Amino acid sequence: MTNIQKLPLLALRDMVVFPGTIAPIFIGRDKSLQALLKTRIEKNNNSKYILLTLQKEVNQDFPDVSGLYTTGVLAKIIQIIKLQNSNAKILVEVLHKVKMHNITLEDSFEAEYEIIKDQEVLDIENMQILTSSAVQLFSQYAKNNKKINPEVIEAINAEASHKNVNFIKLTSLIASHLTSSLTEKQSLLAEPNPLSCLKMIIDILTSGITQTETEQVLQQRVKKQIEKTQRDYYLHEQMKAIQKELEDDKSDFTDIEQKIKTLKLSPEAKEKAEIEFKKLKLMNQMSAESSVIRNYLDVLLGLPWGKFDNAKINIDKTEKILNRDHFGLEKVKERIIEYLAVLQRSNKIKGPILCLIGPPGVGKTSLVKSIAESLGRKYSKFALGGIRDEAEIRGHRKTYLGSMPGKVINLIKKAKVSNPVMLLDEIDKMGADFRGDPASALLEVLDPEQNTHFVDHYLEVEYNLSNVMFIATANSYNLPRALLDRMEIINISGYVEEEKLQIAKNYLIPKQLKTHQMKEDELHITDQAILEIIRYYTKESGVRGLEREIGSLARKVLRKILSDKNLKNLSINVTDLEEYLGAKKYNFGLAEKENQVGSTTGLAYTDVGGELLTIEALSFQGKGEIKTTGKLGEVMKESAQAAYSCFRSRASSFGLKYEDYKDLDIHLHVPAGAIPKDGPSAGCAIFTTIVSLMTKTQVKRTVAMTGEITLRGSVLPIGGLKEKLLAASRGGIKTVLIPEDNVKDLKDIPINIKNSLEILPVANIDQVLKLALVDTDFIKIKKV
Ligand code: ADP
Repeated sequence: MTNIQKLPLLALRDMVVFPGTIAPIFIGRDKSLQALLKTRIEKNNNSKYILLTLQKEVNQDFPDVSGLYTTGVLAKIIQIIKLQNSNAKILVEVLHKVKMHNITLEDSFEAEYEIIKDQEVLDIENMQILTSSAVQLFSQYAKNNKKINPEVIEAINAEASHKNVNFIKLTSLIASHLTSSLTEKQSLLAEPNPLSCLKMIIDILTSGITQTETEQVLQQRVKKQIEKTQRDYYLHEQMKAIQKELEDDKSDFTDIEQKIKTLKLSPEAKEKAEIEFKKLKLMNQMSAESSVIRNYLDVLLGLPWGKFDNAKINIDKTEKILNRDHFGLEKVKERIIEYLAVLQRSNKIKGPILCLIGPPGVGKTSLVKSIAESLGRKYSKFALGGIRDEAEIRGHRKTYLGSMPGKVINLIKKAKVSNPVMLLDEIDKMGADFRGDPASALLEVLDPEQNTHFVDHYLEVEYNLSNVMFIATANSYNLPRALLDRMEIINISGYVEEEKLQIAKNYLIPKQLKTHQMKEDELHITDQAILEIIRYYTKESGVRGLEREIGSLARKVLRKILSDKNLKNLSINVTDLEEYLGAKKYNFGLAEKENQVGSTTGLAYTDVGGELLTIEALSFQGKGEIKTTGKLGEVMKESAQAAYSCFRSRASSFGLKYEDYKDLDIHLHVPAGAIPKDGPSAGCAIFTTIVSLMTKTQVKRTVAMTGEITLRGSVLPIGGLKEKLLAASRGGIKTVLIPEDNVKDLKDIPINIKNSLEILPVANIDQVLKLALVDTDFIKIKKV
């Protein structure tokens, strides 16, 4: 194919082709098509040849001769495909670089050409090194270049790994796949020295790689920038939210600031509040500490500094209200009025604290409420029952999260005034353990010398409690001595049946009707029915159970009235009770139905009032010992021992011989074994039981007794006389034996109890036996 002088020439718009490669070429322009038409089949090898060269301006549709590079290639046409719109695509095998001369342009380009032979490579070693680095660079270059097909890398690598590498071909292959500018590629084509050409390629590759790397960095940066923008947006939003929160805080701050300024804080409290506030302002408002301080300020500034109910003591008013709310209790009311009279004069609560002691449901709480109402002060209640931790009174130190002020400060905060009437409920039920002694903390609260500057551990500043009117209640006298000394005790014993009846009729029923929003005439309970409820549905000194039963009766009646339109009101009779309240809950009267041997009725005084106590005994062969059961306390066990010794020392006076009892064991039992019992006052009853058992003499079933005995048989006084007599009267007892020394207490006993019972004083056990036993002829009175 030598000596071909002239061939049609195709101007390529956007590609440089290199020898040794196969390239597809699109032909659309007229002149190009003409050129294609002019190609001839060479006779010697049956192929068509064509010249290809790059036009200098990509955008030139009709370049002229001067618009073409004169270095181009000679290519063999492998395939011609005609396309629509008289376009065509040809596939060419690029054979040689050529230098074109005498380019002519008529209907198409034609040119003469001469084949350029690449210069011979002399420095093979250098060429090898350069080629391998070019191959390496190319694969790196191609990886980051989406325009290059991965297969190209493989092809080039394959070419490079040939045993006899054709450097020229490899260089052309790499050059043809470069995505660099057309002019760059054109100068590669025009470079006759393969080494220089390779160097140029390496330069292009390196700069391309750097460029893509830079691009990547840029991209990364752009991505980051986008992320940052998003992040910034998010942060901005968050900042807005925080700012809003801060604004709230700010308004919170102004609120706090305002309070510090305007409240009548003590100078100490003001200083403390200011310090804490300053700390708060400097703090991260989200931190845990800030919420501790915030809570603290909340408590400190929430206290009713300098706020008082304008309370004047008005005895007449108090008396009226106490009478309005409570039946009977004359002595109690009188004591309360006296107490207030002293206060009215002195105008300062400096005296002892009132303490109402009595069984549950006798009206202690409601008396305190009435006092508060009559004085025009707020009422607040501090339930002390079960409190073991002094921090409940004096507060927890602020140092740890979740600490709080004590209950006293809390109640005052809640009351919103500094002078409420505060009920210290169940003061006898306070405990003490390793967490400190709440009683001593309470003393500090109550002591007028100390409570003007009471310091709660949480609050850390003094708060004046001296304006609070404390009134305590308890079920028993079982109070720490020091507390007892501070108290003015008012004892409220239980009610007798008649009193309960009156309380029910005049107070409890109207109150329950009101609670249930019933009209007065809708429910009537006959007196007999009320008494029946008292006897068989309750067993108590107070009236709490009675009130509950009346409440449940009222609910049931209300329901009946609501479900039956014709029913306007209901009257409850004794016979109706079972229907409304169910079966009877208690037996009225614990007195034995028949006279018994070895069983005596004693009287006990418990937290819930007085109770009948059956004491029974059995004897059997043994060693002459006494055994007790029924959950008796130490004192009661000892009094059983004493009674037994007393009996043995006097056995002969009951006509007993030593042999009769020396080998007999006695088992003494007090039923209702689950309830703990203690105290010495069952001495008489235990002794009587033993004598009855050993002499086989009956005890009168209608007799009950109370009294401690000495070893030598004297009867000593007891406490809780009224409650015991009430229990006896409730229990169907006729005669009660009481210690002679308790006779003086009888003046406090309601007359109707005294009338309902035969109350006989006794000084020694011989008298007891005489009155209690059915048959006493056998007793020889022993001179003491
Ligand atoms: P306590 O505090 O002694 O346990 P409460 O004060 O709770 O008893 O009294 C229980 C109920 O009995 C209250 O509804 C109270 O009004 C009523 N109550 C107690 N005693 C009387 C009384 N003498 N007159 C009228 N209601 C009374």
